[in-house]
Amino acid sequence: HILLNCPMYNIGYIKTVKKILECVCHRCARLRLQPGDHKYRKLTMIKDKFKYAWESCKNKVVCEYPDCETQLLPIRRHGIELFFDQKKVDNKLPRVPLYADQAKSILEKITDETCRLLGLNPDSSRPEWMIFTVIPVPPPCMRPSVHIDVANGGKGEDDLTHMLTNIIRYNNLLGKNESSKTAIEYKEQLQIHITTYIDNEVSGVPPALQKGGRMIKSLSARLKGKEGRIRGHLMGKRVDFSARTVITGDPHISIEEVGVPLSVAKTLTFPERVTSYNLDRMQALVNNAKNYPGARYVINERGRRIDLEVAKTTPLIEIGDIVERHMVTGDTVLFNRQPSLHKMSMMAHIVRVMPYSSFRLNVNVCAPYNADFDGDEMNLHMPQSYETVAELQTLSMVSSLLVSPQSNKPVNGLVQDALCGIRKLTMRDTFVNFEDMMDLVMCLKEFPVIPPPAIFKPIPLWTGKQIISLCLPDIDLTGNTLTHADHEDIFRSTTKDLNETCTRKAESEFYSATPTDSRVLIQSGIIVHGYLCKKTVGASSGGIVHIIYNDHGPRAACDFIDNSSRIVNAWLTNSGFSVGIGDALVSEITHAVFSSTIDTQLHKVQKTIESYHANELKPEGNFDCEQTKENQIVGLLAKARDSAGKTTLISGHPDNNLKQMVEAGSKGSVLNICQVSACVGQQMVEGKRIPFGFKDRTLPHFTKYDHSPAARGFVRNSFVKGLTPSELFFHAMGGREGLIDTAIKTAETGYIQRRLVKALEDITVKSDGTVRNSRDDIIQFYYGEDGFDGTAIEYQTFPTMMLSESELYSRYYNGIDSEYAQLKKDQELLRRVLRLAEDRWPLPLNIMRMIITVKKRAITRGLPDTEFTAEYIFQQTKAVVNSLRPSKLNINSEYNVSALFGILVSSILSSKQVLYVHKLSKCQFDYLLILIKEKYHRGLVQAGESVGVIAAQSIGEPAT
Ligand SMILES: [Mg+2]
Ligand SMILES: [Zn+2]
Repeated sequence: HILLNCPMYNIGYIKTVKKILECVCHRCARLRLQPGDHKYRKLTMIKDKFKYAWESCKNKVVCEYPDCETQLLPIRRHGIELFFDQKKVDNKLPRVPLYADQAKSILEKITDETCRLLGLNPDSSRPEWMIFTVIPVPPPCMRPSVHIDVANGGKGEDDLTHMLTNIIRYNNLLGKNESSKTAIEYKEQLQIHITTYIDNEVSGVPPALQKGGRMIKSLSARLKGKEGRIRGHLMGKRVDFSARTVITGDPHISIEEVGVPLSVAKTLTFPERVTSYNLDRMQALVNNAKNYPGARYVINERGRRIDLEVAKTTPLIEIGDIVERHMVTGDTVLFNRQPSLHKMSMMAHIVRVMPYSSFRLNVNVCAPYNADFDGDEMNLHMPQSYETVAELQTLSMVSSLLVSPQSNKPVNGLVQDALCGIRKLTMRDTFVNFEDMMDLVMCLKEFPVIPPPAIFKPIPLWTGKQIISLCLPDIDLTGNTLTHADHEDIFRSTTKDLNETCTRKAESEFYSATPTDSRVLIQSGIIVHGYLCKKTVGASSGGIVHIIYNDHGPRAACDFIDNSSRIVNAWLTNSGFSVGIGDALVSEITHAVFSSTIDTQLHKVQKTIESYHANELKPEGNFDCEQTKENQIVGLLAKARDSAGKTTLISGHPDNNLKQMVEAGSKGSVLNICQVSACVGQQMVEGKRIPFGFKDRTLPHFTKYDHSPAARGFVRNSFVKGLTPSELFFHAMGGREGLIDTAIKTAETGYIQRRLVKALEDITVKSDGTVRNSRDDIIQFYYGEDGFDGTAIEYQTFPTMMLSESELYSRYYNGIDSEYAQLKKDQELLRRVLRLAEDRWPLPLNIMRMIITVKKRAITRGLPDTEFTAEYIFQQTKAVVNSLRPSKLNINSEYNVSALFGILVSSILSSKQVLYVHKLSKCQFDYLLILIKEKYHRGLVQAGESVGVIAAQSIGEPAT
């Protein structure tokens, strides 16, 4: 350490020192408040003592003690100098500096009692301790000298060493000339050096510079900021056992695999303990050390590490040794792509060692990483213990993270080619002959039982739906395709409900196909009708992937994605698909139709402008005439483009490849089609039509004051037809703005994400079901007020909510008054609580689907159904619902945390529904109740879940 010859301010404490000095008298060091003062009494009680003391003392100008009565001057700070401001006394008087030694002597006089009043604990923080008398000197390992400067003769020293020499120099000068005139100057210099040593970015202090003019890196600069010690080296750092390279696509591997280059596999190792079970295998690896698969090191039981690269003889390993073997196919690794915005940005994959130098990744797993193959790089981490491997395999595998709690839906589904192909393959007119069928079937992980062909003569043909059905486990689903329109429901079944009062669509449309095959029905894993598209097979809530995940588990869902995408890709490579200029061209008739619609709209715009000039336009809402005119024009032009797009799409041939992709949901949108073949539309800058950049006009091509659509950025042509020079320029303007604000947005949202996570990172679910932070403050008494895990939830319909009184009576009244009363009460509660126009709510375990499953298993053993009475059903259902009340919270309340779930169960399993609609046997019913109970408990969150981070990620990630 360095003993200072004169006390010095510490830049980190100077604010506090100033505040303390403003609280006490500068002569007698007593608090500026007297014990009789009512504020004084508050100081002994309130929590925020220091702040309160300062607030009430800083403005006192005189010591109020009769034995002192000193005039107190206000203290001002400039950089690292403190001084008394005499301006109030006399404007001409100079400022009187308050040096650290003076300040220290005042602080020393403060009694322990006063310290406590100020909120300081005198045992651990006496105020004078905030002033340096000794400078601690860090050891050389913290400021090592560098040997780069050899050419200039002499070794380079660390910045801190330079600063310390300066401090020593001025300290010595000060010691020798304590009383001379230059002492003050040395004092000020020493103060500056000590300050810049700690923080070189203090305002009002000239920053210390190195010879070249580079700023010296102070102690605080080492610690703070993104590259500082805390964020750069402690919270995140470069790590061993990791690899990074470019990713490329590979449709043949599973979404749960990652292709690893051989060079990486030979570098990364796993320390495997030798046991009697793997002794031979490990010895073989050691013998093969330098080749692949081999090993790099052997650590024997005495802890000696043998480098196999340089070892002269191959060591004989023993049980208990550790072999650091190469990475092999089948290892579990952690894979990551930055920015890691949510937990799906780091998932565990199974290694598949491959030639060449890039990581191989299945396209269908790119969505959660937000990755593509245009040069993206990803990181791979090799776990280094069996515990880590186990953790990865149970918590982080791609399959176990398939459903995200962010929006209660899968994050993976079919994308791109697979999506486009599965639509084509499952169309009604797609057939596959025997030879192709055999080829396709080979794509499956397990050879299936091949169904009889749909057509036997003249040659056996299978439908595409049959082939995709081979990938499906036993699931049931009804849904629509992307393009399904309500007017297609003309084939709606007219079968009447048991009481012939049912007019609701939901029940009658269940089994109906539509002319365009746009309604999907899957029964017991067989596609009955409807082709598949993004809505059924993509990452959508209630889609195939979601249902398989919920009913058959993560592995089955993964297998479906793998199998179906592989089979579709194999089929698509043979059948072929491509997009060309021909798909963008429209017939002359279509062209004439949309041209005339655009013309009509342009005419209307012209009329609007005219009426504006004639002062006939009435302002709408809060807008003035000018704004009203602009709004109307933009509206009219948008309509022009949209209707042109619609015309193009409707008139497009079903074989149009662009249209096919849009219908499958794999690429492109209606807007894209419109812009390519009909009309590009209005270009916008800052939400307005193109503004006048030249004097009173947008471009020199137009006359001044021209507000017509063409002169303000309406692009009438399509991309196929080509843009005029001025249209091209407007389009470039709009496009540039888009580029700029995406660039700005990424930086901003990234920071928002960091702040969100930092604020919520300590919030977890505790074993008692409460959600608490690290201080054990309760955030929620029950997670999400219902305790359900976000990944276990699906949208479910409350069957009773929307029913009229008579409908409810006819469908649910079964002679048991108490049951009916309860159902009515529940209906009332639903309507009051949900306040929605719909009767859907996210709840775990899909009971309707479970009923179908239970019926399929056709359990009929057990008690004869004669004992299966309405009363029995009512009592049993009630018992189950009551048993689901979790925890001691709300135990007495009828409307506890699981009330909604209880309502769902008791309405679906009301006696009349069970007996006449679902037609369950007693055995099936009992089994269903057991299932519900079990699955309910699986749907609850696990204790220890970091729900705070999940919440933060779920908001931050979509914002990015
Ligand atoms: Mg990219
Ligand atoms: Zn005093």
